[in-house]
Amino acid sequence: MIPFLDLKAQYQTIKEKIDEAVSKVISDAQFILGEEVEAFEEEFARYCESRYSVGVNSGTSALHLALLAADVGAGDEVITVPFTFAATAAAICYTGARPVFVDIDPRSRLIDATKIEEAITPRTKALVPVHLYGQCADMTPIIEIARRHGLVVIEDAAQAHGAYYKERRAGSLGDLACFSFYPGKNLGAYGEGGAVVTSNAHYVKRIRALRDHGQSRKYLHEAVGYNYRLEAVQGAVLRVKLRYLDEWNAARRAHASEYRRQLADTEVRLLEEMDYGRMVYHIFPVFTERRDQLQEHLKNSNTGTGIHYPIALHLQPAYTGLGYRAGDFPHSEQASAETLSLPMYAELSRDAIDEVACAVRDFFRRPRIFAEDQGG
Ligand SMILES: *Cc1c(COP(=O)(O)O)cnc(C)c1O
Repeated sequence: MIPFLDLKAQYQTIKEKIDEAVSKVISDAQFILGEEVEAFEEEFARYCESRYSVGVNSGTSALHLALLAADVGAGDEVITVPFTFAATAAAICYTGARPVFVDIDPRSRLIDATKIEEAITPRTKALVPVHLYGQCADMTPIIEIARRHGLVVIEDAAQAHGAYYKERRAGSLGDLACFSFYPGKNLGAYGEGGAVVTSNAHYVKRIRALRDHGQSRKYLHEAVGYNYRLEAVQGAVLRVKLRYLDEWNAARRAHASEYRRQLADTEVRLLEEMDYGRMVYHIFPVFTERRDQLQEHLKNSNTGTGIHYPIALHLQPAYTGLGYRAGDFPHSEQASAETLSLPMYAELSRDAIDEVACAVRDFFRRPRIFAEDQGG
């Protein structure tokens, strides 16, 4: 069986260092925030080529606090894409603001910057481009539009630790950037985790207070805050893993080029790698109208796959209140109907890639069954 993701394999490569770091936290009995989290925050900010990072308990919390720091609240609108993980839109709703969707570019599957301006109203407060699959959105036009309209840019970089846009890293591109350390992300904790990255000291002060009950110092509550603190164990694990991130991302890129080489002459469509940056392949997606059948075929060939994501957000039951309908965002709808994620992690072996690619090629060589073409 070739799993979609193999976190056990990664642990085996760093077991000693992780075990040592975790047991130090336990023997120090400093479980929440503290030295390990502060050290990680400094190291991660430096890694992102930014000034500050604030560790929080999830990527979703990072988005929520970044939006609050940018003064987004009831009555405001925030522009993002419907082809993303639900947390991007949920965090906007937590603030009382309304998510306004803009379709994706069918090549990059990222926000289509040429469609942003027509979605801006006097209520628009922020833009949240999502660096989906580990590829940065086209930030130059996005930032230019934001400056012209006085909007804050918040990167959803939950899938893009270490990705580059031109000469700069994800996390250093917008006014604020949000990362997730969910275990399966390119930099994953051993539990929940996230961070807001920014070079703005004013934002940092607000986010540090809001993640810890709105306290500016102990028992002085300047605002109604949250318990969004990062645990020390996660800080310690993330510090160990951060040292390997570039190496792991390079391995992911090498696996991706091998997949590309072996799948180049098949019917399956691959994601376009934009020449403005360097993506980190959180996901290796392929696209086909026969996605469900290909997934079934791979399952029968002992290959685990995922779908990121099967229903565009404007068609999710939770977001029907926004008033969108099927057909409003055709590229997002098509991507969600056609995308399939192949196994992708640094420890993936060349044999496994050969096997997966062979199974994909085999699927497209089979004669089509009539019922299958009818969607059966
Ligand atoms: C994972 C993810 C999030 C949410 O992060 P959590 O740590 O799971 O809360 C937000 N946006 C995107 C694009 C993600 O992939």
